[in-house]
This record gives sequence, structure tokens and C-alpha cells, in this order.
Amino acid sequence: VDLGTLLTSRIRDVPDYPRAGVVFKDITPLLADAAAMTALVEALAALAVRHQVDKVVGLEARGFILAAPVAVRADVGFVPVRKAGKLPGECLSQAYALEYGTAEIEVQRDAFLPGERVLVIDDVLATGGTAEASVELVRRAGAEVAALAVLMELAFLQGRTRLETVLAGAPLEAL
Ligand code: 5GP
Repeated sequence: VDLGTLLTSRIRDVPDYPRAGVVFKDITPLLADAAAMTALVEALAALAVRHQVDKVVGLEARGFILAAPVAVRADVGFVPVRKAGKLPGECLSQAYALEYGTAEIEVQRDAFLPGERVLVIDDVLATGGTAEASVELVRRAGAEVAALAVLMELAFLQGRTRLETVLAGAPLEAL
């Protein structure tokens, strides 16, 4: 089977989570499957190598689970982007709109050397709000976003279209 078929077969639909009417894509069966997890990490690491990145950025929390082994496999460093208030020391913050209210993410001010190339990784691209804020945050911290990679893109929410402007030609890779 091809990679997309393998990965999709290990993602479970959970109806009415986290609230009524939402079908949540649960990636825990994939994380628990050694062959699927290895194939996923290898594919993401190949992207990190192909885009010649210096760092891999993981978005809290499921992005961490993918980005850390990818960083090790690609032999580059890992940088966490976290929800506000979780990282010690001087941070940069980026606020963004949610369906109800706002959220804020942070990265440490000294996380990158100027101009470092980074691959930003998350598990699921939904509306694109989280990815958009992350790309802006990483750039404000002095790095260059070489690519954005997700395990799964929920195409019907049109996050890819929303990200076109902010990505400015950097590829969005959905496995
Ligand atoms: P967005 O900001 O694109 O609307 O939502 C993406 C963020 O919410 C990602 O960090 C992702 O982890 C989480 N998310 C939204 N929907 C789902 C889903 O169905 N499954 C999983 N695993 N994460 C989701």
C-alpha cells in the first residue's frame, strides 16, 4: 500500500469530539502502530532533508510527538512552539482567532539563529489558524519557513487556501 493509504487506515474518526457535530481525527492508532509511525517519521524526515532545514518546529501538543523523532532522524535540532505561559525565559507571542475567542502561542526569543531554515510540523491542518500563527511567529523569531508539513489536511475546511498568503511560496506538504 502507498503511504497515504497506510496512514489514513490508522486514523480513527471520533464523532462529537471535542463537541457535538465535530468529527475528530484521532491519530493515536497510528502512533501505536510501529510500521505506520516509522513510515510517517521517515517521510517527514525526508522532507526535512529535501528542504535542507536547520531546525524542525513542533506545534504543541501532537506536533511534538511527530517533530521530535523527525529532528533526530534528520539530524537537526527540535524547537517547541507552545501555548502561552509554558516556555521559560524571554518569548515571542502570537495571538490568533479561534471559532470562539482567541488563542496565543509562543516560541523562545533565542530559539533560532538568524536565517535558519525550518520545517514546521503539526498533526492535522484544519482551518489553518494554528499553522498561520506559527509561521508568523517563527518568522518573527528570525527563521525562514522552508516548508510546513502535516500528517493530515482536512481539505473541506480550506486551510490550504487560507495559508497561501502567509506561506508566500513555501510548500505545504500533507502526507
Ligand atoms: P486549525 O488551527 O487548523 O483550525 O486546527 C489545527 C489544530 O487543531 C492542530 O494543532 C491540530 O492538532 C488540532 N486539530 C483540529 N482538528 C483536529 C482533528 O480532527 N484531529 C486532530 N488530531 N487534531 C485536530
